[in-house]
Amino acid sequence: MLKLKNINTFYGNIQALHDVSLEVKQGEIITLIGANGAGKTTTLMSICGIVPPRSGEIIFEGKPIHQMKTDEIVKLGIVQVPEGRLIFPYMTVMENLDMGAYLRKDKEGIKKDLEYIFELFPILAQRRNQQGGTLSGGEQQMLAISRALMARPRLLLLDEPSLGLAPLVIRQIFEIIKKINRENNTTIFLVEQNAHQALKIAHRGYVMENGRITLVDSASNLLNNEEVKKAYLGL
Ligand code: ATP
Repeated sequence: MLKLKNINTFYGNIQALHDVSLEVKQGEIITLIGANGAGKTTTLMSICGIVPPRSGEIIFEGKPIHQMKTDEIVKLGIVQVPEGRLIFPYMTVMENLDMGAYLRKDKEGIKKDLEYIFELFPILAQRRNQQGGTLSGGEQQMLAISRALMARPRLLLLDEPSLGLAPLVIRQIFEIIKKINRENNTTIFLVEQNAHQALKIAHRGYVMENGRITLVDSASNLLNNEEVKKAYLGL
C-alpha cells in the first residue's frame, strides 16, 4: 500500500533521515519503534508532505506522493494523528469531530461513521457538548483518533498515542487501535516509544536508530529479539 524508497529528509543542513526504506501492506498494523530523536516523527512528517524528503520516493497505492501537498495526500486517504493530540481545545467534542469530516460530502456516511465512533468510545458520546480542552488526556487521545477516523482514512498514521497516559488508558487505546484495524479495514502505521505495547498489537515492526532503519521483522520476532529486549523493552 505504502512504500518508502531510500528517503533522505533534512531540517536545514541537518539530515534527520538516512536512506529510509519501508513498506506497509494493506490491512496491516506496522509499528516504527525507536528512542527519542531517532526520526520516527520525521518519517510521518515526510509521508504527509509536511517535511518532504530531499531525495528518495514515497509511493502510495502505486502513485508517487513525495512531491504532493499535504491536503492532496489527505484526500488520497492518508490521515495523521499527531503527537500531543492537538485537538481544538475551545471547540466541543462534536465540533472537533465535524472538523475531521470537512472534506466529505456524503452525509449518510458521516452519520454512520459518527455512530461507529460513539460505539468505540461511548465516553465521547456522553461528552459530545463538552469543550475538547476540558477532557482528560486519555479522552483527548480518543477524540484525536476519532477526528482522524471521521476523514475515513485508508491509512491511519498514529504518532505516540500512548504519550503521557496512565497504563490502564494506554491498554484501552491499544485495544481500540486493534479493533479499528480489524473491524474497519483501516491500515495502521503506529509510531511508538512504548515498544512493548506497540509490538503486542502490530503485525510487523521496524526499529529506527539515528535516522536509519536498523531492524525489520515480524512483531513476535522483535518481541523475542535480544537486542530489542535490552534496548527497548527494559528486559
Ligand atoms: P520523539 O520520540 O522524541 O518524538 P522521534 O524519533 O520522533 O523522537 P524526530 O522528532 O523525528 O524523532 O527527530 C529526529 C531528529 O530531527 C532529531 O535529531 C531532532 O532533533 C531533529 N528535528 C526534529 N524536528 C526538527 C526541527 N523542526 N528542526 C530541526 N531539527 C529537528
